[in-house]
Amino acid sequence: MSRVYNFSAGPAVLPEEVLKEAAAEMLDYNGTGMSVMEMSHRSKAFEEIIRTAEADIRELMNIPDNYKVLFLQGGASQQFAMIPMNLMKNGVADYIVTGQWAKKAYQEAQKYGKANKIASSEDKTFSYIPDCSDLPISEDADYVYICENNTIYGTKYKELPNTKGKTLVADVSSCFLSEPVDVSKYGVIYGGVQKNVGPAGVVIVIIREDLITEDVLPGTPTMLQYKTHADANSLYNTPPAYGIYICGKVFKWLKKQGGLAAMKEKNEKKAKLLYDFLDQSKLFKGTVEPKDRSLMNVPFVTGDKELDAKFVKEAKEAGFENLKGHRTVGGMRASIYNAMPYEGVEALVEFMKKFEEENL
Ligand code: PLP
Repeated sequence: MSRVYNFSAGPAVLPEEVLKEAAAEMLDYNGTGMSVMEMSHRSKAFEEIIRTAEADIRELMNIPDNYKVLFLQGGASQQFAMIPMNLMKNGVADYIVTGQWAKKAYQEAQKYGKANKIASSEDKTFSYIPDCSDLPISEDADYVYICENNTIYGTKYKELPNTKGKTLVADVSSCFLSEPVDVSKYGVIYGGVQKNVGPAGVVIVIIREDLITEDVLPGTPTMLQYKTHADANSLYNTPPAYGIYICGKVFKWLKKQGGLAAMKEKNEKKAKLLYDFLDQSKLFKGTVEPKDRSLMNVPFVTGDKELDAKFVKEAKEAGFENLKGHRTVGGMRASIYNAMPYEGVEALVEFMKKFEEENL
């Protein structure tokens, strides 16, 4: 068996240890004689899986007691609607548009109330994070929305925006559990897990309890109300059970790595290796304003579309998968999530050096 170095933006590489453990438990989970896939979500064994997963993510992120952790479905995209349906009490929200996903969330919110675009970086193809120190926050805004790490463009907020006291809502899909966060600064933090945390099909929503109310937009389906899931501890209906089980294993793996502070250190080291190479390269260049660079998604180009395609093709042949940039941007993108080992980035940089020598 040979594993490739998988630089996919998501679904993405998971820790080998986790995959092996899950494989070993595939036919008989913990003496139950069945796979977690075959198990009732009302069983004692699954109850233990989901409660342990919740306890572990609480510990990892140091989540205060007045926040609920919800394991939901529908992808991060479903949150684009759930957030305004549940939180737009005044019918007003402010959006900072730093990429496609923030833009989609902004567009979706317009269906439910008055969504204001209070800052954007679209003027320079989303290659930077706008200054968020003094934004024109709406007086009656129910929340301020950001996409904290922009998967497609490779930018990341290094400082949270000054929301002037308004509730902050953040999509952290592509930086989930990559570094410590102060949960108390947010009203809602959520992310699809298929980048840094687990298999596609689970969305984790961490939400402050006072934001979970029955006062939602008229017509909001039961399944799209946070209260439904909070009251039932994420077991209102059949949850994405197998996905939650894998997330739980990743949480254990993260704890073993030393927690989120240790992950940040590792992620910084990996990203530095690649950015330092890009900064001195005569062929490749990073596309993002250096101060706003993501630790997770690193887009780069040669400036020549044919050469980009040649690079992606040759990289694939050499065992570096999924380096093609997002279809809307072109070029290349290396996603280097938690589970990408340092050696993977090292090998990629070596390959890029060789490609540069041959093609300059
Ligand atoms: N938000 C961000 C930051 C993403 O990167 C993605 C997907 O790549 C999404 C939202 C959409 O996620 P989903 O496909 O789970 O709806």
